[in-house]
Amino acid sequence: MAKLKTTFICQSCGYQSANWLGKCPSCSSWNSFQEEIIQDIKSKQTGTNDASKPKALAEINANEVDRIKLLDSELNRTLGGGIVPGAITLIGGEPGIGKSTLLLQLALSLENKKVLYVSGEESEYQIKLRAERFEKYLSDCFIHSSTNLEIIIEEIKNIHPAIVIIDSIQTIVSQQVESTIGSVSQIRYCASQLIEIGKSLQIPIFIIGHINKEGLLAGPKVLEHMVDSVLQFEGERNTNYRILRTLKNRFGSTSELGIYEMTSSGLVGIQSPSKILISRRDEDLSGVAVGVSLQGNRPLLVEVQSLVSRTAYGTPQRNATGFDQKRLSMLIAVLEKRLKLKLGFSDIFLNITGGIRVDDPSLDLAVCASLLSSFQEKSISKNKCFIGEVGLGGEIRPSTRVSKRISEAKNMGFSEVFISKHSDLSENKNNRTTIKLSKLNDLVNLYSIDKISSDIKSNN
Ligand SMILES: [Zn+2]
Repeated sequence: MAKLKTTFICQSCGYQSANWLGKCPSCSSWNSFQEEIIQDIKSKQTGTNDASKPKALAEINANEVDRIKLLDSELNRTLGGGIVPGAITLIGGEPGIGKSTLLLQLALSLENKKVLYVSGEESEYQIKLRAERFEKYLSDCFIHSSTNLEIIIEEIKNIHPAIVIIDSIQTIVSQQVESTIGSVSQIRYCASQLIEIGKSLQIPIFIIGHINKEGLLAGPKVLEHMVDSVLQFEGERNTNYRILRTLKNRFGSTSELGIYEMTSSGLVGIQSPSKILISRRDEDLSGVAVGVSLQGNRPLLVEVQSLVSRTAYGTPQRNATGFDQKRLSMLIAVLEKRLKLKLGFSDIFLNITGGIRVDDPSLDLAVCASLLSSFQEKSISKNKCFIGEVGLGGEIRPSTRVSKRISEAKNMGFSEVFISKHSDLSENKNNRTTIKLSKLNDLVNLYSIDKISSDIKSNN
């Protein structure tokens, strides 16, 4: 028997060390090192990776037009317009969030295409039961309940499907690697072999990977570097909405977002996501303001909620959910300096509703309006929407593609849209609904107490 070589590998980032270490020098996690047995796979593995990388790029250019279009328009969009032949996509998400449902649905909705669905998680019978909930059965879908990498690769060669789905990478084991199931070495080796077969046969492969509590893919981060695209499937367990976010995409934009609703017959793409992101409130609440964010090409109405309350003791808390904490601190500083607002003794909590995360400076104005509203305990009437970036001087800067944002706001029934004075409205002919502001003071002037109370009256 060949002499076994062992090494210590960080289970969260894949860093290797000859000795056990308490703290990983690469990703700083504690107690993450585990001894794993490696045979000569390391050299073999890097060799295959190096060989497939430059080849893949050449193939991308040649086949750019031959994407496989999906019926699922949300998935199409997040992938950048369909599946590229030979593309390896990693779909991450917490266990139970619906990754298997999403991909089984994809497998069954492809017309006249052979799909191989490999499951190490469920039996063929369980998958059949799940598939029966969906209405569409267009494809030739082969279910293979297996965890053995070598057998799976053999079946891919035999069947030569149009798409392969692996559910999940953490359950696949290779006999070439002596490490335990789900370890870094196993995951990395199995993924590299799957990537190799996918690239050489030009078969797109979807790999499901579970995410641990810290939001990292359980196992190595290196997996994210190996694949072409990384999609993250997220959502709160107690709601029916799910978000598919592009974290990496060699074949398209990473700012795209797909939104689904989990129904009894599977996941349904939501055509008008703004509707679900705006909470249905009956009474006027202070601290609520609506803004328009742009996700990829799609305008999305986003509700910002904030709570400004006097600090009971100690240092005031500043807490943002779904919004950048540093950006919030900056906006608070601007409000303090330019509007002489005394926020220094207040706890401030800010939340973007619907469980989404937004990195769009155009939301600044809505955030400021929401903070002001909570501070003054005056609600903003439901017909108002805010679009604009706020600068350090308190000036309101124009947003990109403002016309697109305004029309989404109008479609959703907002009759007063606050924008920067300098916005480019050339595309927007009917701009009677817009109110132009040049600095934050204009917003405060508009929001004098009288103005707001009359708004509330007119609503009742
Ligand atoms: Zn590490």
